[in-house]
Amino acid sequence: MTALSANLQAVLARIDSACRRVGRDPSSVRLLAVSKTFPAEAVVEVANAGQHAFGENYVQEGCTKAEALAALSLEWHFIGPLQSNKSRPVAQHFHWVHSVDRLKIAQRLSEQRPAHHEPLNVCIQVNVSGEASKSGIAPDAAVDLALQVAELPHLRLRGLMAIPEPSEDQTLLRSRFALLRTLRDTVCEEYGLPLDTLSMGMSSDLDIAIAEGATMVRVGTAIFGARTAANP
Ligand SMILES: *Cc1c(COP(=O)(O)O)cnc(C)c1O
Repeated sequence: MTALSANLQAVLARIDSACRRVGRDPSSVRLLAVSKTFPAEAVVEVANAGQHAFGENYVQEGCTKAEALAALSLEWHFIGPLQSNKSRPVAQHFHWVHSVDRLKIAQRLSEQRPAHHEPLNVCIQVNVSGEASKSGIAPDAAVDLALQVAELPHLRLRGLMAIPEPSEDQTLLRSRFALLRTLRDTVCEEYGLPLDTLSMGMSSDLDIAIAEGATMVRVGTAIFGARTAANP
């Protein structure tokens, strides 16, 4: 077993026990392996250990890896901040975008999604940490955006995503994740949109996120190792 495949197994075991602690079925949580800053060879190693879905933050880097590894038929998720002038390559190369936080980006992704591809799966990124964080739409504007995004023809709205500000305060973190879950429930129950995804939880807090209902955890460091200052 390689070092990275041992890390992958350890993360899967963590997901498993986090689920069992709260009575959830481990198959209800998907692992997204966040490979940003790591080379294609590292992705291959983790893919060979059985991992299918990979997350990238930077447009150029992510597109280059997706192209280089096309033969592996992996699933690519864009999870970083997205500027509208860079949306086209994302619409062309990725299967999911987790960081939709305004209508303009969603409209561009829908227009630019190639006709021969499946609709692009998207999540709306919500700012659950208030002023401490800059990315994501405000919670009280998220429902409206969800309703508009759901109408776009070449997108498939799957759910909500959040990156709470890191905190030692587990109760605070938990309340941030709970806010995202409550919003998802509102969109589903009051507006009838079938959202099946809560993208929340990273290396340091995936256990809490799972306790609050995460269906997809995005894990980088615990699989690939620490990113360096040159590779943030
Ligand atoms: C880098 C990143 C992750 C992974 O973070 P780790 O702490 O390394 O697990 C998850 N989500 C987003 C949006 C990221 O940018």
